[in-house]
Amino acid sequence: MADKILMKTPLVEMDGDEMTRIIWQQVKDILILPYVDLKTEYYDLGLENRERTKDKITLESAEAAKKYGVAVKCATITPNAARMPEYNLTQMWKSPNGTIRAALDGTVFRAPILVKGVTPYIPTWTKPITIARHAYGDVYKNTEMIVEKGSKAELTVTKPDGTTETSLIHEFECDGIIQGLHNLDDSIASFARACFNFGLDTKQDVWFSTKDTISKKYDHRFKDIFAEIYENEYKDKFEKAGIEYFYTLIDDAVARVIRSNGGYIWACKNYDGDVMSDMVATAYGSLAMMTSVLVSPDGIYEYEAAHGTVQRHYYKHLKGEETSTNSVATLFAWTGALRKRGELDELPELMNFADKLEKAIISTIESGIMTGDLYLISTLENKKKVNTTEFLEAVNESLKTLL
Ligand code: NAP
Ligand code: MG
Repeated sequence: MADKILMKTPLVEMDGDEMTRIIWQQVKDILILPYVDLKTEYYDLGLENRERTKDKITLESAEAAKKYGVAVKCATITPNAARMPEYNLTQMWKSPNGTIRAALDGTVFRAPILVKGVTPYIPTWTKPITIARHAYGDVYKNTEMIVEKGSKAELTVTKPDGTTETSLIHEFECDGIIQGLHNLDDSIASFARACFNFGLDTKQDVWFSTKDTISKKYDHRFKDIFAEIYENEYKDKFEKAGIEYFYTLIDDAVARVIRSNGGYIWACKNYDGDVMSDMVATAYGSLAMMTSVLVSPDGIYEYEAAHGTVQRHYYKHLKGEETSTNSVATLFAWTGALRKRGELDELPELMNFADKLEKAIISTIESGIMTGDLYLISTLENKKKVNTTEFLEAVNESLKTLL
């Protein structure tokens, strides 16, 4: 065999839990270590080690991501009540994704991986639609109250000089409800930059939509900040790259998205992004066929799978039963991270390897070899269901012919 591909800077490797942890090791053993002289700085974010380190390991891994610039993360358990006795936890540790997102101040980009034989529910969507979801504020950081008939609700802001500004919300003639929301210019600006950078990176148009005709100050602020940053920092770069930035009302965006062929980034406010990404993922077929990357405003990339740890399959695996878990999203987290590392370190061979591995994954599925989840929805006639390991081995056979 030819020499292994060399790396310069280590990837930050964040290991995880359950079935995805099993897949993580197999992906490395079968498809990466035989070809790449893999350099990683390893952080074990498995729940046992988070408990052992009182979750310090998660913060350390985020710091390492900041230091090196590219991380690849396995799915991790976010503990709930049931996990407390299962893992003997002293605390219900926070979601590692939440901790890492807060440390990196990022935007999450999710895009479907398209393969022949798995047709989107909207057949005109021949190219992927990438959803960029703002992950701060609005209804996710709200203040709510139940209001009694006869009450008067006002919005009051106390300024730094102690003066106040008040405006009437409503005089309640019957019982009702009230909600207060906020967002921050800095957070909106980093969201905008993350979207524009991702557009440049992937050579795709950026669409942004809000409801600024109704929300003339709040949503309008989002629109203005995006417009200002685009004009001052990105317009020339976009023109050079031959891509466009385009703002439209969310109602209009929804209509255009449905009629489109895909192939762009759709930037959404927090709530819109939550709802639209579920719609888009479902319409394309499967969460295991999505790429997901967190991009920070200062250019740190964390690649991950969009699904969880596939607990149900893990319990089968523990009982010695065969599993047919889809490893594609985990594989694409690795190829995304290796390609980005190759790009930053000017290692064309590493980038080429990532491209070839992705080709091998897609051609394996298109040749009819697939895991159970895809077997259920594939329209291929010669399809064959394989187990978790057999799928990776089939990808390796296809990779060997490409390299
Ligand atoms: P999940 O792991 O995404 O799995 C839910 C179901 O979706 C599975 O039971 C399976 O359906 C199907 N599925 C998901 N990924 C699949 C794959 N790669 N291949 C085949 N089928 C797949 O969600 P969950 O069971 O609700 O959550 C399990 C754990 O994951 C939780 O502890 C949660 O905290 C964590 N989680 C982590 C992340 C993350 O780290 N990014 C995200 C979400 C959830 P069938 O059982 O019908 O085959
Ligand atoms: Mg949701």
